[in-house]
Amino acid sequence: MKHIENDDKYKALTVNKGVESLPSVNPYFKSRIRAKKRILTVDEYVEGILRGDITILGQAVTLIESTLPEHYVIAQEIVEKVLPYSGNSFRIGITGVPGAGKSTSIDSFGMHLLKDTKNKLAILAIDPSSERSKGSILGDKTRMERLSTQQNVFIRPSPSAGSLGGVARKTRETIILCEAAGFNKIFVETVGVGQSETAVHSMVDFFLLIQLAGTGDELQGIKRGIMEMADAIVINKADGNNVDKALFAASQFRNALRLFPKPDSGWEPEVLTYSGYYGLGIEEIFDLIDRYEEFVKGNGYFDFKRATQAKYWMYQTIEEQLKESFFNNPEIGEMLKIKEKEILSHETSSFRAAKHVLDKYFNKQEK
Ligand code: GDP
Repeated sequence: MKHIENDDKYKALTVNKGVESLPSVNPYFKSRIRAKKRILTVDEYVEGILRGDITILGQAVTLIESTLPEHYVIAQEIVEKVLPYSGNSFRIGITGVPGAGKSTSIDSFGMHLLKDTKNKLAILAIDPSSERSKGSILGDKTRMERLSTQQNVFIRPSPSAGSLGGVARKTRETIILCEAAGFNKIFVETVGVGQSETAVHSMVDFFLLIQLAGTGDELQGIKRGIMEMADAIVINKADGNNVDKALFAASQFRNALRLFPKPDSGWEPEVLTYSGYYGLGIEEIFDLIDRYEEFVKGNGYFDFKRATQAKYWMYQTIEEQLKESFFNNPEIGEMLKIKEKEILSHETSSFRAAKHVLDKYFNKQEK
């Protein structure tokens, strides 16, 4: 006997005629994408920035950070146009090893500065080791819990990984846009683990080194160069049981600084202790920074340093763009691969290979 379940009418996979399948794409999806893609004109960006519109400022910074050549062109035009409105800020560089308390401190520093309602704060970073997709060390806004909810604050993580020169240029251009948008206090943060301090130092007016009290041998492991760049060294976490240790560390740093030659600014770097977490000693740090600003504006060093920095950045930009133009050239890329092989098989020397490639590049450029 034929079982009813074997009847065609009851088969599970029967498709009833006349029932249309559902559209697989959300009909609203395309138009949403289109709406999001609108890029403003250069003048619209410039007007927005000069108006202090934080959303437009953020979009312009995204163009600066972009690796697309067409974005680069627009970004450069924007920078060029807002340049006359920039420069009117005090720029503070902050460095310290991971865990020194940079973000906790900037949160407290910022809240202190915001007590004066005229202040507008931008917090930028240079961290060439980071990749945004992996979560930049300096990229997490939630690290500055209080500041990230305040008006008049613009927090921007480090431009994502690239050459230090490239990352630094982007941050420097971002400073220009922020200043044009009316931000008058600019923090540039970096991790104290390498060359990035020099880059930050070359774009700020004041350089603050955050240190921790530790084993009693605080000076070990700190590069002399970094200490020499500092206009002030501040020992963080001077709270609870740690106060005495912090005071001891401070006296060690003071002794060490005495051995250094006097900096060109004529300013004698100072050492203070504080607690970023508990907000202790913050006023003293800003009194010091104010005194510094007055001192270097009084003796002409402030303008001199800014001019020297501008000159430095011209050379940096030339260097970076030459390298980029060279290494992004597909023919040169091919030739380099061949030359690498020739060097490995001892068919040519590094110098000859370099000369060949450079000759090829420069002949090409002259056409
Ligand atoms: P960063 O890596 O330099 O940005 O350091 P964080 O600001 O993230 O701080 C690292 C750790 O130190 C966190 O657990 C903070 O809570 C703690 N910390 C930061 N500042 C202080 C402070 O002034 N006192 C104490 N006791 N802990 C702090």
